[in-house]
Amino acid sequence: MKLHFYGGASEVGRSAIMVRDERSFVFDYGIKIEDNQMDYPIKVPNVDAVLLSHAHLDHSGSVPVIYTEQSVPTFGTEGTLMLSDLLLEDALSIAKKEHRHPRFHKKQLGTMVNRYVRMQYEKPYGFGNYSISMYDAGHICGSAITLVERHNAKENRRIVYTGDFKVQHQYLHSGAKKVKSDVLIIESTYAGREHANRSQLINSFIEMIKETLDNGGTALVPAFAIGRSQEIIAMLYKHGLIEYAYLDGMAKEATKIIMKHPDAISDKELLNNAAEGINWVEDRTQRRRILEEPSIVVTTAGMLNGGPAIEYIKHMNSDSQVFLTGYQVEGTNGRTLLEKGYIVDNGNRIKVGVPVTKFDFSAHAGDADLHEYIRASAPNTVICVHGEAEATREFAAGLRNEGFEAYAPKVGDTIELAD
Ligand SMILES: [Zn+2]
Ligand SMILES: [Zn+2]
Repeated sequence: MKLHFYGGASEVGRSAIMVRDERSFVFDYGIKIEDNQMDYPIKVPNVDAVLLSHAHLDHSGSVPVIYTEQSVPTFGTEGTLMLSDLLLEDALSIAKKEHRHPRFHKKQLGTMVNRYVRMQYEKPYGFGNYSISMYDAGHICGSAITLVERHNAKENRRIVYTGDFKVQHQYLHSGAKKVKSDVLIIESTYAGREHANRSQLINSFIEMIKETLDNGGTALVPAFAIGRSQEIIAMLYKHGLIEYAYLDGMAKEATKIIMKHPDAISDKELLNNAAEGINWVEDRTQRRRILEEPSIVVTTAGMLNGGPAIEYIKHMNSDSQVFLTGYQVEGTNGRTLLEKGYIVDNGNRIKVGVPVTKFDFSAHAGDADLHEYIRASAPNTVICVHGEAEATREFAAGLRNEGFEAYAPKVGDTIELAD
């Protein structure tokens, strides 16, 4: 059995890991967006199936590209299908607006949807000598940890791919299911780092938002459309702030879809209440008016690479503040804003003169959680992916000291596993 790393190895973005065995699978086929440049994974040869962990574009963004030359099933949950369809359609319309040539068209997206196999959590699906199962990853609506189990005369082998996962509970998601493995391919976004205490973090976030409102400013909360936006609005509802809050950008559509798939979140009543209480921004002319009064704006893009967040940030008054709500990938506007105090819009540098604070409301496992997960999964081999190069390398080295066979591959590498 060979594992080929076509993307998302020693980097975050364009996840693409191929398993070549009697049958071939690719775990995720994503895209990396950096400095407004698209980076695609290495071209995938013929595969028998795509196993899609969740909707975020760094995992799903190139899946339709596969359908320009092949027509194979994509396995994933229903929530992942609905949400990736939303994100991929949006990616196509942005490409059109910006006169870029996307690597796929509506036709390929349509084939992907038609060939999609809707998986339910913990219901195995037979596929030749393999069975495929998906378990709740606790990351976003529909997110899955995938188990591919190979059955043959000699031995069964369990390959587990975590995708993005979170062990600790969020407002709308309970923690990831622990799945036993022989080979564990694990995300390493937070390897070597811990998240701040979540309840303290929520308290200071809420306090700073209240302060901003008292000062007459706007609290701009850029958030990913899927997952983070819904957690944030649940948080604002819980703390009695929902009436001051506005929801804009793709987060609106995503919230509607997630409300239609209540099985994929753990507290549907909370999300319903938050969605009913918040003000939905209906058209862009409303945006300037919102900024005239103390307000909270939850909108895309989560890393400030486009979306209504840019329009708000340009016109906020000086008592306003920006609250980043998660990891900011190198090269994104969010990261540049944090480190250098400006963003780039249409090639122009825009200095942002208001305070910017990053709150690590991450939907990823922290370092201790990664180790807890590995112990519970009990693999022989651990393969660390989806993390920045140095952290991933150190993570794997630490695991080797604990007696695991551990690797931190780079894009283009192949690992051969003895049968
Ligand atoms: Zn994700
Ligand atoms: Zn990811």
